[in-house]
Amino acid sequence: MSDIPIFYSDELGRFDFGPGHPLTGSRFRGFMDLLGKAGILDRCRIIKPQSATDEDLLTAHTRQYLDKVEELRKTGGWLSIDTPVTEGAAEAQRLIAGSGLQAVDLILGGGTAHTFGGFHHAGRNFGEGFCIYNDVAIAAKAALGRHGLKRVMVLDSDAHQGNGTMDIFYDDPRVLFVSIHQDPRTIYPGKGFVWETGEEDGKGFTVNIPMPPLSGLENYMQAFDSVIEPLAREFKPEIFIRNGGSDPFYADELTMLGLNLDGLNAVSRRTRDLALDTSGNLLDMTVSGYGDWVTYGWLAQFCGSEALDTDYKSYSPKQPKRAPATSQESLERATAGMLESLKRELGQFWKF
Ligand SMILES: [Zn+2]
Repeated sequence: MSDIPIFYSDELGRFDFGPGHPLTGSRFRGFMDLLGKAGILDRCRIIKPQSATDEDLLTAHTRQYLDKVEELRKTGGWLSIDTPVTEGAAEAQRLIAGSGLQAVDLILGGGTAHTFGGFHHAGRNFGEGFCIYNDVAIAAKAALGRHGLKRVMVLDSDAHQGNGTMDIFYDDPRVLFVSIHQDPRTIYPGKGFVWETGEEDGKGFTVNIPMPPLSGLENYMQAFDSVIEPLAREFKPEIFIRNGGSDPFYADELTMLGLNLDGLNAVSRRTRDLALDTSGNLLDMTVSGYGDWVTYGWLAQFCGSEALDTDYKSYSPKQPKRAPATSQESLERATAGMLESLKRELGQFWKF
């Protein structure tokens, strides 16, 4: 039965930031091949992405910023130290932004859909962190604009905080943006502290959960139990967007979190259950992950988001040895302390 919508075409392989860049275009085809090996591809409905138009991009970005990207496309150049504007990357990100819009159209009747997105470091007037167009924000804006919804929840479980998405919705109470990420004192983009809670009408609708380095599944579940789930149930989203990616994996080359494949799977499963229970839908976006483990992490996540009982680990090489961890007890204490201060910051806005 072909019942899992996934937005893919070989054109995504044009994604290319140049030799040696950690965000590779080969990951998309690689993941589709892995879905095939795992016997899941037959159950997927592959939908071809359509490029987002300028009008779509302008819902999240300024005209000045789009002009700058166009200029850099012609001349070559960089939006930031890690983000060159290449023809391939700009085109692929436009396609991915378009697929987010198609996915919103598709899931509003209920159900799940998957895109290769989550370019959450692009803000209203800036691009950085491998991100040119913020497809997460563009999808959320379409849900609010052309579909007229009032409450969108974005759960950003990428290891890096979603500073671009935060920038775009910082004053907007229609979008509950919850980012669970590695402590910003230890990683790019250096944003996402508990006291960053929104501004003006949006105060209380930005929620940052900075996890101590090496945090594993138990710590993530603490955060779901005490913050993410109560917030989602009180907010009652009409659409649920998850900005995923496998960089919280403990062997990721750019991060220092502690989820193993089972952890990535369990976080996705918990997200799915919460999303379907609150909004009845889930738009699951996945693009991040750095090193040899990207597609295996994605498979673990995909199986969680779709509640598949596939033995995802049997398609992966043996997992690398874990780094020596801080004791579980001290991680639990650090996580609990962080969650308490977050609840103090947000207590005036939410019941918990
Ligand atoms: Zn990331």
